[in-house]
Amino acid sequence: MTTPRLRVVHAINFRILPLPDTVLMLEGQRYVAIGSRLHRKPDGTDVPLVVWRSHCAECGMPFECSTTLKGSHPNRRCPEHHSPGAAVTRKGQARQKKFLARKWRRKAASPTGR
Ligand SMILES: [Zn+2]
Repeated sequence: MTTPRLRVVHAINFRILPLPDTVLMLEGQRYVAIGSRLHRKPDGTDVPLVVWRSHCAECGMPFECSTTLKGSHPNRRCPEHHSPGAAVTRKGQARQKKFLARKWRRKAASPTGR
C-alpha cells in the first residue's frame, strides 16, 4: 500500500523548508516545491529560499521562482512575461522608487573623468 505523501498548503508560512513536491495553491495558481537554495544578503547572512515550479499565468510555460519561508509572494509569470516594472504591492512600489532614485543619483554623481 502506497500513500502519496503529498502536502498541500495555501500560504507561504514555513518554519522549516518544505519537502520537495509540497504543493502551494495561491490565488488559483499552483506551485510545486522542487528544492531550496541559500541567498546571501548584503549584510552577509544567508537566508534559505524555497524554489518553486509553476506555470506562467500568461502563457502557461513552466518557470521557476524562489521565495523566503514566510509571507513572500512568488512570481506568477515566466521571466518573459514577468514585468519587473510593475510592483504588485504598495510596499514594493515604494521600495522600487527608492531603488531607482538611488540608481539615478549615483549615475548623475559619477565623475566624468578629471
Ligand atoms: Zn509566460
